[in-house]
Amino acid sequence: MAISKDIRIAIVGAGMGGLATALALAKEGFTHIDLYESASDLGFVGAGIQLAPNMARILDRLGVWKPIADDATKMEGASIRKGQSNEELAYSSMMWIPEAYGYQHMVGHRSSLAGEIYEGCKREKAIRFHFASPITDVKTFSPKPQFVVSPRQDKGAGGEPYTVECDILLGADGVKSQTRSAMLRELAVDAKVVDSGQAAYRIMLTRDQMKDDPELLALIEGNYSVRWIGERKHIIAYPVSSKTIYNISTAHPDTNFAAAPDETYTTRGSKESMLSVYSDFAPICKKMLNMVPEGELCEWKLRVHQPLPTWVHGTFALLGDACHPTLPHLNQGAAQAIEDAAVVAIALAKTPDDSPESIQKSLKVYEVLRKERAEACVAMAAANGKDMQLGDGAAAKERDEAFKAFRESGGEGKVPDKAADKGVLSFIYGWDASAETTAQYDEIVKKL
Ligand SMILES: Cc1cc2nc3c(=O)[nH]c(=O)nc-3n(C[C@H](O)[C@H](O)[C@H](O)COP(=O)(O)OP(=O)(O)OC[C@H]3O[C@@H](n4cnc5c(N)ncnc54)[C@H](O)[C@@H]3O)c2cc1C
Repeated sequence: MAISKDIRIAIVGAGMGGLATALALAKEGFTHIDLYESASDLGFVGAGIQLAPNMARILDRLGVWKPIADDATKMEGASIRKGQSNEELAYSSMMWIPEAYGYQHMVGHRSSLAGEIYEGCKREKAIRFHFASPITDVKTFSPKPQFVVSPRQDKGAGGEPYTVECDILLGADGVKSQTRSAMLRELAVDAKVVDSGQAAYRIMLTRDQMKDDPELLALIEGNYSVRWIGERKHIIAYPVSSKTIYNISTAHPDTNFAAAPDETYTTRGSKESMLSVYSDFAPICKKMLNMVPEGELCEWKLRVHQPLPTWVHGTFALLGDACHPTLPHLNQGAAQAIEDAAVVAIALAKTPDDSPESIQKSLKVYEVLRKERAEACVAMAAANGKDMQLGDGAAAKERDEAFKAFRESGGEGKVPDKAADKGVLSFIYGWDASAETTAQYDEIVKKL
């Protein structure tokens, strides 16, 4: 016996996690996949994203990696520098990665990544998109989940709210997840959003803006990322879109959102206040920040929440930022959502029959395989943010000694920036989500 491939699967949210899950399920042969998205189309916000081998391996199997890689920049290394002086603390080579994991570490444009996964989904007859269709309530989670779709009146879709029943419901609705809130309400669990106290500016400079300055041209021409670190703030930057764009992302203490309600995540940033935050950084940084056109600065609140007691309830499961939102300091948010997609699709395909009990067990296998690992990445990202933003105290001295030791050893041993450390990267890149699920499914089910 095996699960019927025409079982009804509904996914809430067409972000990286939802799209990858739909595609992975279609590739496993499921024929009835409905994706509900509150936006009226997928106008992916422009910004860069790191494309790690653990993500590439999955997307390659799903048949969408090649065009993403063609458009991406191969990263040969990561340069970590003092923000105030631009002095290099360490350069960590990434040249060992392709041989170890079959894929180079790359950086690309978000629209290229999400756009190609979306194109892959559109080629699958099994996947139906419902845009301008936010899920506003989950009436029941099992045995057959029922949820309410309230078409957006402002986007022409119109129509009255309606209720949908499915066999499996997957909540991929991001950090502000309503399906998570609905599940936690039903379980009487209070897992609150945690204020990270941090916000980020996201900036994209064009090659034209940088090309006449040799120092800046070298940055956009380079095959490396640069992280400039300072007390309670840092900047990370790398070239994307065939080196026509230099992507800059910052992290700094949040002041603008501090008093804002929970649901506020992005705002128009003030250039003046950005320049004042980074006023003690080196001229090379200030030159770039100065190039941002007035009125075009976007600031994001970096929000996370406490680990959840469970990701699964009945025949419902959460995935992606909905259950493990992360600070961006390890570059793994989307990659971990895509690992969720691979695992949940294979686990569901291995379900022996259509009963809600068997489906729930497969979702639990997904949770066993993914929760500890994703939460470890979230914890490492938070720790890395702290380590890279130390002040002048003893801890910072110790960190800089470790950078020095790494530098003097010719790039061997531990580097304090976890996003550039071989040990941490091996933990992240060495785990093959699909292979692990295939290998471990039966054993885990037996123990449930
Ligand atoms: C500054 C910054 C830098 C980052 N850099 C990286 C990086 O380099 N590498 C990396 O891997 N990750 C990075 N990330 C993280 C990454 O962007 C996220 O982890 C990833 O996008 C999460 O995907 P998701 O599908 O879970 O959620 P989302 O992408 O947030 O998608 C959720 C979707 O659900 C929809 N939705 C929400 N509510 C509803 C509803 N009620 N009904 C229907 N639809 C709904 C939303 O419209 C959205 O389309 C970064 C994040 C930040 C903030």
